[in-house]
Amino acid sequence: MMEGGNLFSRREFVRIAGLGALSAAAGACAPKVTKPPVRPYRHFPMVEVSKDRIIREAVGLRPYRPSGFVVRRERFGAKDIIHNYGHGGGGVTLSWGTSHIAAKEAAPLGHKTCAVIGCGAVGLATARLMQIEGYRVTIYAKDLPPHTTSNVAAGQWSPFTVFDKEMITPGFYQEFLRAARLSFGYFRKMIGSRYGVRVADNFYFGDYPVTLPDVIYDLPEIYDKPRMLVPGEYPFDEPSGAIVKTMLIDMPIYLDALMSDFRRGGGRIIVRDFRDIMELLSLSEPLIMNCTGLGSYFLFKDRELEPVKGQLIVLEPQPEIDYITLVRNGGLYMMPRSDGIMLGGSQQYGDWDLSPDPFVTERIFTGQSRFWNGLPVA
Ligand SMILES: Cc1cc2nc3c(=O)[nH]c(=O)nc-3n(C[C@H](O)[C@H](O)[C@H](O)COP(=O)(O)OP(=O)(O)OC[C@H]3O[C@@H](n4cnc5c(N)ncnc54)[C@H](O)[C@@H]3O)c2cc1C
Repeated sequence: MMEGGNLFSRREFVRIAGLGALSAAAGACAPKVTKPPVRPYRHFPMVEVSKDRIIREAVGLRPYRPSGFVVRRERFGAKDIIHNYGHGGGGVTLSWGTSHIAAKEAAPLGHKTCAVIGCGAVGLATARLMQIEGYRVTIYAKDLPPHTTSNVAAGQWSPFTVFDKEMITPGFYQEFLRAARLSFGYFRKMIGSRYGVRVADNFYFGDYPVTLPDVIYDLPEIYDKPRMLVPGEYPFDEPSGAIVKTMLIDMPIYLDALMSDFRRGGGRIIVRDFRDIMELLSLSEPLIMNCTGLGSYFLFKDRELEPVKGQLIVLEPQPEIDYITLVRNGGLYMMPRSDGIMLGGSQQYGDWDLSPDPFVTERIFTGQSRFWNGLPVA
């Protein structure tokens, strides 16, 4: 399956290939010179990967829709429902952007109170924005943090694995870029220890030339031009690297802070599992913001939604690790959080099973051990 996030960037390939051809041509007639030694790009504190450092495993189901997320208004009798779900592997990243768009959809309807269904990253961002807009807001959710998919998210600000590039319309892609830009703006204002949001170096490694998601080139106002790295600039046995800067969101800190902002703003949170639309429509609120993620498969019978199972090995925290690594198109990644070092990655389409797959655990552990011990991964 072709995915929005993991496509090889043709533009970058052409650029690098062009440079390679030029330098080869120059080398043919230039006198031989000794190259200066390559300096490390930065200090790389190393992740210590060993079985005795594993504190837990985590599994989450990304709410994926090949044609992209849904932000749309629907009328059911006297009630207005605004959907905001289906963000795939980028739900934390896009949460403020799609919630901003959803809140603007609600504005002309003239309601004063609203129910937000769902208490993950999307529900909490929506609830806060509705509060800021002056609504009386109640969150209803089956599960609260720390038991949501959003808590499993490793926490990279990364609008990737959100859709299948073959399945989207040009209009959707523009809406997606708009949501990413809006969301980025909100997260920038949250940088700091209160929300657990920080700027972080993201290193991509793989075969030469390393592949980066196309989206990076389509959001130049967010991503500086990636800098390509050569062996010697990093301590890993990978042929090629690149670095971009983005943000890292420490999910447990972030979601707790949003819950406390919401409660301080007068919001109520009620634990409730809705079995069908009729139960939803029995709520007293005239406006319902649907932020149920994968729950919309059952509640609204959205059969385009599918789970993309992701599995993590969590190692003991190492506060000195302040960067992200993504190896071989995200086949292996490392993201540091205050509650541990998250080692991924896996993407199992259509798999609803929430228990860790031992084969995936072994693949991630072996691959990460080799990578962090300076051995070739593949
Ligand atoms: C391993 C892994 C790593 C990831 N890494 C990243 C990352 O680095 N960056 C990123 O942006 N994204 C990442 N993601 C994706 C991200 O986790 C999701 O896109 C995001 O959590 C979706 O948020 P949400 O609020 O829509 O859903 P959820 O967090 O699942 O919240 C849904 C809410 O709706 C409630 N609900 C559902 N059905 C019902 C019902 N019938 N009645 C009442 N309540 C209901 C749930 O209880 C919950 O409160 C990752 C995902 C995984 C699995």
